[in-house]
Amino acid sequence: MDIADPILVCRACASRSRPDVVRWRCECGGMFDLDPGSSALPTRRSSAPAVASMWRYADQLPFGPEHVWPGRLTMGEGGTPLIFGSPDDAGPMFKLEYVSTTGSFKDRGAVVVVAVAMELGATEVVADSSGNAGTAIAAYAARAGIRCSVFVPDGTSPKKLRQMRAHGAIVHEAGTREDAAAAAIDTVDRTGAFYASHVYSPFFFEGTKTFALEVIDELGRCPERFVLPVGNGTLVLGVARVLDALAASGRSDARPQLLLVQSSACAPIADAVRRGATTVAPVRNEGTIAEGIAIAAPARGDQLLEVIRRYDATVITVDDDAVATASQWLAVRGTYVEPTAAAPLAGLQAAVESGLVGSTESTVVPLSGSGSKAA
Ligand SMILES: *Cc1c(COP(=O)(O)O)cnc(C)c1O
Ligand SMILES: [Zn+2]
Repeated sequence: MDIADPILVCRACASRSRPDVVRWRCECGGMFDLDPGSSALPTRRSSAPAVASMWRYADQLPFGPEHVWPGRLTMGEGGTPLIFGSPDDAGPMFKLEYVSTTGSFKDRGAVVVVAVAMELGATEVVADSSGNAGTAIAAYAARAGIRCSVFVPDGTSPKKLRQMRAHGAIVHEAGTREDAAAAAIDTVDRTGAFYASHVYSPFFFEGTKTFALEVIDELGRCPERFVLPVGNGTLVLGVARVLDALAASGRSDARPQLLLVQSSACAPIADAVRRGATTVAPVRNEGTIAEGIAIAAPARGDQLLEVIRRYDATVITVDDDAVATASQWLAVRGTYVEPTAAAPLAGLQAAVESGLVGSTESTVVPLSGSGSKAA
């Protein structure tokens, strides 16, 4: 792998190591981050500026532009449109993350994680997912010719299950979202398969950070506000990685307001913030149409709380009625998303109503997943 080593840093014991196929966390049990030095600052485009995909930023990812696998794996993920929310140009901008290979922003992370799996010589990957991460990993594993198993909770959208199976993945329905994660980890530990986890693998956030790189490039600066969904926080952590790099390079626009949105039916991060806690306690998922953010025990919860403190982020919760209303608002304006993807807009609307947000200009809201594979 043509990346500077060592690049994995344990969050718990700070030990440094190189990635390999079987280690998905540190011997001490800690989660891995990537050394910030192992990817470049967001200051320049790659040598291939014409590429209308996230691979414009190849030189800011832990791969050289000459790195062979992303070139063969890519299906044009990223490079998504940034549009005005309404035709009169007022209000927030939407970044159409559903315009992607498998219909969600998870493609950005999945392509990087599968590239790493390939590079390490993995012949089998395992993932757990409430839906979109599973479809994304399944698609890129298929493209890479690697066997794939996905563990999903009961009740996962049938269309998403069909898609995973169509890509050749073996799908296991395994109880709750947390049961699915435990079953995936058990399989990884037993078989030595590569754990293509969007939560554990720090490479996933290298992919999701390109969301923010694209926004900043397109606007010529950081927007004043990002409104982001939070389940496991993989988009939030990718954005934070870019903001941290901007701050480290002394850029003055590195502190946008972060408005983070959870479902009121499953809001462990919002609960922890309300209690002023520094660790996240698991909650019970009461059930929500925003299934993609219903993560009762986010494994990187404490890391998300750190980001929230560092950026003085606001976390708000939205109920299903608000999500449905936002979803309809989007649909009658031409954008068709799955319910989860309407949650950030619902959160922004609630923040405006409560006076938390004044003007919604210079505000970027991802429309994170397509309506065409919901239900
Ligand atoms: C996964 C997902 C989210 C939430 O992302 P997290 O990384 O879990 O915070 C939001 N919207 C859609 C469509 C998703 O697939
Ligand atoms: Zn450790």
